[in-house]
Amino acid sequence: MDDVAPASDVAQDADQAPVEAVIRLDHLRHNVRALRTLAGAAQLMGVVKADAYGHGAVQVARVLREEGVRHFAVARIGEAVALRDAGLTAPILVLGAPLPHHLAAYAAHDLGVTVASAAVAEAVIEAAAPHAPLRVHVKVDTGMGRIGLAPDAAPDVIDRLRRAPSVEMAGLWTHFATADADDPTFAHHQLDRFERVAGRVEGAASCVHVANSSALLTLSERLADLRPALVRTGIMLYGLADRADLAAEAGLRPVMQLTAQVTQVKTVPAGTSISYGRQWRADRATRIATLGVGYGDGYPRLCSNRASVALGGHRVPVVGAVCMDMMMVDLGPPGTGPDVAVGDAAVLFGPDGPSTFDVAAWAETIPYEICCRIDERVPRRYVPGA
Ligand SMILES: *Cc1c(COP(=O)(O)O)cnc(C)c1O
Repeated sequence: MDDVAPASDVAQDADQAPVEAVIRLDHLRHNVRALRTLAGAAQLMGVVKADAYGHGAVQVARVLREEGVRHFAVARIGEAVALRDAGLTAPILVLGAPLPHHLAAYAAHDLGVTVASAAVAEAVIEAAAPHAPLRVHVKVDTGMGRIGLAPDAAPDVIDRLRRAPSVEMAGLWTHFATADADDPTFAHHQLDRFERVAGRVEGAASCVHVANSSALLTLSERLADLRPALVRTGIMLYGLADRADLAAEAGLRPVMQLTAQVTQVKTVPAGTSISYGRQWRADRATRIATLGVGYGDGYPRLCSNRASVALGGHRVPVVGAVCMDMMMVDLGPPGTGPDVAVGDAAVLFGPDGPSTFDVAAWAETIPYEICCRIDERVPRRYVPGA
């Protein structure tokens, strides 16, 4: 490593990257307000796991706090500790199941523990002490099949936790497998199971929470009856949803826009192949722009020969295989299409280009995965508005 310049001499500026994710904080604020209206009497629990679905957990949490959000959730303890280190003092629930050796850190950082098994309940009872109390949210598996106590087992476990010193029963919760489905039958079945457990432990939990983002829309009537204290909203904060119609129904605005700069423009003769594997060939003289973004940034390789991007006021198709750091788009025959120069910005998804739903469809996945997968090497630029 002797011949490598010291880090301080290497340009680290975000401006040096030919790609960036613009994060529209005005849209985030708008979405918080729209969700608060939908949530009615329930408070929002801002789900900022996976670096706030790729948007930046610390920055997003800060804006949510400014908007009055008082509860947060992440997936793993490390994510929660990072938020504490950044100064977030609000309640944070870790949604994933803890390993027994994590419990001391939960106490040290005052984090909500998900109790999803009798074994974890016993570990909590053992670890909790007056100088290290533990706040627990008991998770009942009503049909998601991921983590949680079976409905029949939950009341006994809750009873033991209730009687244990230095343990606070802070929540009782479940999670839907089909909150986004048109057919609500299974979600209703899950709620029936949950309500039976809640009925058996009346008063045991100061708060119940069941809904993720889409349940706010698809199960609103049942939620009005259950009157949960909290709703765990993630994807809709970011202006997305499982389905485009749900995002539209809630009047959400997409928060992330991925842009990449043109790094080369050229005209190739008919017959020229483009990119690895020669999957695409120009059938006539064609202008090709190369963009400084690829699957190494999290733009899906499945977009090869399928997607389009917004560039120079046009939608232009992605041609050839998306590479790790670059990809090519077809600007049309010379004399047609957009007038494009090196340094121009293309929008890969976001308010000014194809939607995240479009990219998810091209990549045969869901919008969650598109924004979550935008790599750390892509600088985030936070803008108050546009
Ligand atoms: C991620 C997650 C949420 C948030 O879901 P969205 O669909 O993004 O609103 C809520 N609850 C649990 C348990 C989760 O894992």
